[in-house]
Amino acid sequence: MKPAPFDYFAPGTTDEALALLDEHGDAAKPLAGGQSLIPAMNFRLARPQVLVDLNRAAELSYIRSEKAGLALGAMTRQRDVERSDLVARAAPLLADAIPWIAHPQIRNRGTVGGSLAHADPSAELPAVALALEARFRARSAAGERSIAVADFFKGMLETALQPGELLVEVTLPALSPRTGTAFLEVARRHGDYALVGVAVVVTLDAKGRCQAARIACLSVGDGPVLAVEAGKTLVGQKRSDELLRAAADAAAKDDVDPPSDIHASAAYRRRLSARRGTDAAGARDGVRKSRERERGAGSGTLRLGVALRLGGNRSLLPFRRYHEGL
Ligand code: FAD
Repeated sequence: MKPAPFDYFAPGTTDEALALLDEHGDAAKPLAGGQSLIPAMNFRLARPQVLVDLNRAAELSYIRSEKAGLALGAMTRQRDVERSDLVARAAPLLADAIPWIAHPQIRNRGTVGGSLAHADPSAELPAVALALEARFRARSAAGERSIAVADFFKGMLETALQPGELLVEVTLPALSPRTGTAFLEVARRHGDYALVGVAVVVTLDAKGRCQAARIACLSVGDGPVLAVEAGKTLVGQKRSDELLRAAADAAAKDDVDPPSDIHASAAYRRRLSARRGTDAAGARDGVRKSRERERGAGSGTLRLGVALRLGGNRSLLPFRRYHEGL
């Protein structure tokens, strides 16, 4: 398929891009990495009359440590995030999640801002942003505003961004002490969108009890879904296999309402979302396992690992779990 006809502009700065978006209003769309927009245009699912290409606005591409946390420019390539030592140190959840996005060729072009603005419910970055309580900086010709993650994702492929408005930056607040993170997903084949995925941020108190837990799921609703009940189950408790099982049950029962589609039924997705048994062994193994792409849904035993990396001493408290007979 070929796209419907459109006018193409390649402004050299963000200000020029904003002026063009303002001038063309609803008819215009920003073009970032093109990895979602161009296929949608080729299938004529999207028919913008004007494309405003952001790729020459070099000031939109950066990763830097700031007072408010780790700041990422909207045009930062996903591959640059993957290779960044700063991201690995300051936002290990993001570092763990990025390799799960598609293939390197797509991550070479795909951008952080493009993925967040596109708001695909199966995408990894929206769930990471939700788990980490990200803030979004949006600009239009009229000015600038900051949007909390709770107000940003509005539904299927929908965000709080208005026509004429650009996402210019996302900030991930620094993790508090004694906080661990993990990201896991199940996909049918390497590079596929997730059937189910989960991004977890857990903070322990000085006695090793769970002080706060944010668990964000992907591919289980119209956007990233915060597993509120599962989080509540963990808070105030010490880690145990029973506790994890209870949290998993709470997530499956109260938090997620997954869709059925050609890839998986709702019941199957619900089962994937829940934890079945836990294994506290294999401390150092935990993080490595959590980085492995889990494959082979339907292959008998499917292993999912959730590792908590504790700040400071870098010791690991793994939450590993097994799904039997999927
Ligand atoms: P584009 O495609 O250029 O834009 C996407 C949308 O966002 C458009 O509507 C555009 O107008 C808007 N937009 C872009 N930037 C801005 C901005 N700064 N402000 C406002 N609006 C903006 N993604 C995953 O998360 N997980 C996967 O497993 C995955 N698998 C994929 C497999 C394949 C084969 C392909 C082709 C893509 C896959 N993707 C996946 C999508 C990929 O991550 C895209 O890079 C991402 O969804 C969109 O980013 P982009 O920079 O390419 O944005």
